[in-house]
Amino acid sequence: MTGDGTRCVQGGSSAAEPGAPTHAGPVLSSTFHLGSPGEAAGADFYGRAGNPTWRQLEAAVGALDGGDCVCFASGMAAIAAVLRIAAPRGAIVLPSDGYYLARSLALGELAPLGVEVREVPTTGEWSGAVLDGAALVLLETPSNPGLDVTDIAAVAAAAHAAGALLAVDNTTATPLGQRPLDLGADLTIASDTKALAGHGDVVLGHVSGRDPELMALVREARTRGGAILGPMEAWLAHRGLATLDLRLARQADNARAVAELALAHPAASDVRWPGLAGDPAHAVAARQMRRWNGVLRFTLADDAAVARFLKTSTLVESATSFGGVRSSADRRQRWGDDVAPGLLRFSAGCEDTADLVADVRAALDAAAP
Ligand code: PLP
Repeated sequence: MTGDGTRCVQGGSSAAEPGAPTHAGPVLSSTFHLGSPGEAAGADFYGRAGNPTWRQLEAAVGALDGGDCVCFASGMAAIAAVLRIAAPRGAIVLPSDGYYLARSLALGELAPLGVEVREVPTTGEWSGAVLDGAALVLLETPSNPGLDVTDIAAVAAAAHAAGALLAVDNTTATPLGQRPLDLGADLTIASDTKALAGHGDVVLGHVSGRDPELMALVREARTRGGAILGPMEAWLAHRGLATLDLRLARQADNARAVAELALAHPAASDVRWPGLAGDPAHAVAARQMRRWNGVLRFTLADDAAVARFLKTSTLVESATSFGGVRSSADRRQRWGDDVAPGLLRFSAGCEDTADLVADVRAALDAAAP
């Protein structure tokens, strides 16, 4: 297999035909010629069911995941499709401390229809009775915003023994950081709004898997549900993906530097980044992850300390997303996460490390009591 950088640059490339564009533009058509009775059907017939620009992105992302990829309008659309496929078949088991809208969707829309929804902490017991009668186990590792980690291979074995499918929300890690399908998961899901597209200008998600029947259900769920992304978004994401390897490397360097700075600074506590040798998640993360990423967390004293931190920094945006080229911080309690008021999820961007460290040091100094 070629290296990460080569695969990011080459994935889903246009055919090298003389006169053809080297990177074809977005195909914006909603309608495609059907031909006459008796003529062979073309690859596309209607824009909700298929699009050539989606397929180029899907070829690139699927190759990185090691499976067949179906792209969606958002990470939540991808999660919703998988939950809808599983719901008629049994209980759904998902993290109690992962991305809040996955939980909210299961509890708010599926539980009232009679679907049993069970919650387990990311570092909890993902085996035994909690898996009895389960149709789907959904993990999120590293988790958002806690940055805890679950052993994917161990849960895959337990889920399969219980007759359940395992899906892993791989948003934080990205397909370069972790390949859940290689670790035994049936599906890998992500919000590519984050690092994969990487520039804060596109909302999209995807599901990848290796079982053709299961992936046919995922594709059908997209066509029926209609949660499709626009060709322009697919094209932008594909363009962004070309630099994922480079961005992730800088983000991981910056995350390590900020985590080490925060660990040594009196204004911050509760620093978590799985790449730190002393992090409680490090051993499992190092075993199953291929490389680190830019997302960490730390806690400041209170709301007021967060306000001083954000006002003082000139490089860290106050924003709720992560994985982009610009560093950002998000006070997660504002979204209802069950965390301390001063907990910040910090997304290290692609700034020069020395500049970011100097900026964050000044912000932490201002946040100190
Ligand atoms: N999964 C995780 C881990 C997320 O952090 C998010 C969004 O923040 C989602 C899924 C949902 O993705 P989207 O916002 O693209 O719908």
